[in-house]
Amino acid sequence: MTPDDLLQRLAFVRAGIDRAGTLRADAAKIAHFRGHKDARVLPMWRQRHPFDTGPDGTPRPITMSLSEVGDDAMFLGLVGETPWFAAALNDADVPATGESAFRILNDMLPVLPAAQATLLAYARGMMLWHHTHRYCGRCGSPAASSEAGHSRTCTNTACAHRSYPRTDPAVITAIIHPDGEHILLGRKPEWAPNMYSTIAGFVEPGETLEQTVIRETLEETGVPVTDVRYIASQPWPFPSSLMLGFRARAITTDIRSDDDELEDVRWFSRDEVKNGVERNDPGPGLKLSHPHSISRFLIDGWAYEK
Ligand SMILES: [Zn+2]
Repeated sequence: MTPDDLLQRLAFVRAGIDRAGTLRADAAKIAHFRGHKDARVLPMWRQRHPFDTGPDGTPRPITMSLSEVGDDAMFLGLVGETPWFAAALNDADVPATGESAFRILNDMLPVLPAAQATLLAYARGMMLWHHTHRYCGRCGSPAASSEAGHSRTCTNTACAHRSYPRTDPAVITAIIHPDGEHILLGRKPEWAPNMYSTIAGFVEPGETLEQTVIRETLEETGVPVTDVRYIASQPWPFPSSLMLGFRARAITTDIRSDDDELEDVRWFSRDEVKNGVERNDPGPGLKLSHPHSISRFLIDGWAYEK
């Protein structure tokens, strides 16, 4: 498995849209896009997106026209000349395709074309941000969508505070044994039996990414690490994370857990990882996360170096 093979699998990183950020505040341009005959809307309802099946058998996101959704559709950008928008649907707006067409994005990743998964992740992240930022964080008055959906502005004119979409940085790390031949993985109690993954945690205010890697690893595993190196990132809009993937080297190997987030932490050999199976495989052996995740990207990136 080459680094290119691994990158091909990673979800949400294939940019297929021009975000056209400089046009968001241009009301005339946005009005023109809203009136464009080919403009498409990606709908979301109860955090799900509707899909049908294309002629080649692959799933396709179902799109809607602007006339089918409210005025709050936010501008995502341009795919070629075509403006794309996103809109959250109310129960009354769920189209004739019916509720059963609506699926959870994460479940669709193994079968969804990469560029479409990326577009849906972007739309999903934006819509979830709007949903949880309906009120001004400074004065508590209602906040209204502005800049074609890329900000929200407090409706209290004495305040007029403007807020922007948030992304929560989280680190995720492949921790390599000093012998270079083992990797440290942990499991949460709610996971399927034998499922293990890389060590992850949120960045706290005032922390560098490297400090977060060192702190989280020590808290969750008791293992001190060094040589923290950035590898790659992945947007993870469940609801609003940006996963920052690292590799680090363990200084010592004794495992001890100071918190109860993980129920088990172990060192796994390269062969054990290479023989690992998908998390929903009913067979025995180590189970690993989906190939589209950055966790698996980091694990396989190490396992298949040799
Ligand atoms: Zn306010």
